[in-house]
Amino acid sequence: MGSDCDVLIVGGGMVGATLACALGQSRLRVVLLEDAPPDPFSVDQPFDLRVSALSVASANILKTIGAWDGITRRRLCPYRRMRVWEDLGDVEFISDEINQPVLGHIVENRVIQLAVLERGKDFENVEVIERVKTRSMTYGPKGSLVELDDGRTLKARLLVAADGGFSKVRQAAGMGVSGWDYEQQALVLTVETGCGQQDITWQRFTPDGPQALLPLPGAHASLVWYHTPEEVRRLKSLSNPQLLKALLEAFPACLGDIKSITARGSFPLRRQHALRYIKEGVALIGDAAHMIHPLAGQGVNIGLLDAAALAEVLLDAAHQGQDFGSEATLRRYERMRRNNNLIMMTLMDGFYRAFGNRSVPLRVLRNLGLGLAERIRPAKKIAMIQAMGLHRSLPRLAQGQALIG
Ligand SMILES: Cc1cc2nc3c(=O)[nH]c(=O)nc-3n(C[C@H](O)[C@H](O)[C@H](O)COP(=O)(O)OP(=O)(O)OC[C@H]3O[C@@H](n4cnc5c(N)ncnc54)[C@H](O)[C@@H]3O)c2cc1C
Repeated sequence: MGSDCDVLIVGGGMVGATLACALGQSRLRVVLLEDAPPDPFSVDQPFDLRVSALSVASANILKTIGAWDGITRRRLCPYRRMRVWEDLGDVEFISDEINQPVLGHIVENRVIQLAVLERGKDFENVEVIERVKTRSMTYGPKGSLVELDDGRTLKARLLVAADGGFSKVRQAAGMGVSGWDYEQQALVLTVETGCGQQDITWQRFTPDGPQALLPLPGAHASLVWYHTPEEVRRLKSLSNPQLLKALLEAFPACLGDIKSITARGSFPLRRQHALRYIKEGVALIGDAAHMIHPLAGQGVNIGLLDAAALAEVLLDAAHQGQDFGSEATLRRYERMRRNNNLIMMTLMDGFYRAFGNRSVPLRVLRNLGLGLAERIRPAKKIAMIQAMGLHRSLPRLAQGQALIG
């Protein structure tokens, strides 16, 4: 027996669950599938190893859909300063310089996901199905079928792939990607510091790869150490005291005193872009559409913009009595997002290549660039506004405007 819905979102990660909330209170019947939701939150829980630097635009989206309270009720860390440097070139952004209270927030991925999933359950037109595996997915331009392990079959006019970089939905719809693996991995460490609460996030570029600190609530921080896969493997195999010693030797002095390493993990890095984001009856959002080098912390930020843009397009179409699943409607979403995401991915590749290059003239140029960015005030302000995600042509939700369904 098929049960019908308008929009079936496969993947209730940060991005898919945001789309479900953005479609809440509309006339569309939405089903959200998440097979592995996080465990409930408790204040004494260790920090999630995976954290995200959420831009101001992302916070606007989460506030407008009503999920931000679920984050502030749990844990988050605002940051007002951001410093980027290499050797002599050094630039520091301070939110006061553009009369903003913060540049962004560091939030554990688990906290973001829990808050949006919880919010999704408030809407009568949204059904959240958790902890059930998908048995099969069959894409059809006029309607797709998803069979669940509990015997249910769901039929939807529009299937949305929000199931991450190795998306099964994208494969079922026969949509191709281009991409490659970076010759770098990210070693992520949660640490207890002797510095008290910090309000700065920083990134130092070294020829081996960037090193970054993201502050967490209290005297805690998340460190990201980019290096070759071999070196990351070696570092990961060290005991905690050995790793701490290696960390203190390699990281800059401003890291301060590190009391202990409380968690560690590594992530291979891949660049991947879907050749198309849509076709009749299907749309890709978030990592299912793009995987980007995390050095500037943009992956989930651009994914949330995808969710906001797709919701805007679907609700506008439904409001005007148009077919929200048609290729013509969905093309507007693709136009709003694909080029912007490509520009961001190309920029990250540029940073990865330019800062990973040991050539002396290039090193001089890089340092000159960072120094100029510090001294030329208008350019610095533009860079800060970009980093906060507040550039032009944002989807309405990211500007804090509610959508009408
Ligand atoms: C080291 C590192 C640091 C990063 N730091 C940042 C940062 O600071 N800022 C930032 O913006 N981005 C950052 N990113 C990128 C960010 O983590 C990703 O872009 C983001 O997780 C993508 O979210 P998503 O919801 O699209 O996909 P995912 O997080 O992959 O979520 C997909 C969800 O779909 C579910 N799912 C999959 N298949 C099914 C199925 N068949 N049925 C039901 N559910 C399914 C999964 O359980 C999962 O919950 C970082 C990435 C890395 C590797």
